[in-house]
Amino acid sequence: MVGAGRRYRYVGPADVRASVADAPEGWPVRSPADLDTFLAAADPRDRDEPFTYVIDTGGTLRLAPRRSEHVACAGGGEVLGAGEIAFADERDGWVVAEVSNQSTGYCPNPNSWAAVADALDWAGIGRPEAFTVAVVFRRCLDCGEHNLVRDDDYMCVLCGAELPEDVEPRLTAQPSADQRSR
Ligand SMILES: [Zn+2]
Repeated sequence: MVGAGRRYRYVGPADVRASVADAPEGWPVRSPADLDTFLAAADPRDRDEPFTYVIDTGGTLRLAPRRSEHVACAGGGEVLGAGEIAFADERDGWVVAEVSNQSTGYCPNPNSWAAVADALDWAGIGRPEAFTVAVVFRRCLDCGEHNLVRDDDYMCVLCGAELPEDVEPRLTAQPSADQRSR
């Protein structure tokens, strides 16, 4: 099934990873019944709100309660995608209403959508054609802060340095990106 997507390793604070070391992995969703079970167990007030998700390296969607850490949802491992996801109850069952790549723990690129779409299709969950919210992450080359770029404002929130507009090498696994002539 899935396999072509790139893997993202956890890039967030080490103390966050340590603090969730004992937290359970996200609930695997391999069928609509799996999703029903997860949502039935969720707090009713949370069902319309975004949950934490990752796509594990096997290509499976894993869900955790809202505001859970992505690294806990992933069992501390690498992911093919991560972000927030919300569901809506439609006639044929639950479908994805909103989905984003918003995870400061993994900073997945917007093109991680392919892995998210594959996981949802494989599980038989209805989905949109693309992320409903796609965010862009850039690591500051001066101070190392991971920034979430808003409104095309490529400036580090921590030190004010200009952020690279090109995806930076460490996040794309293309070590020669800096050497390409442009
Ligand atoms: Zn900075």
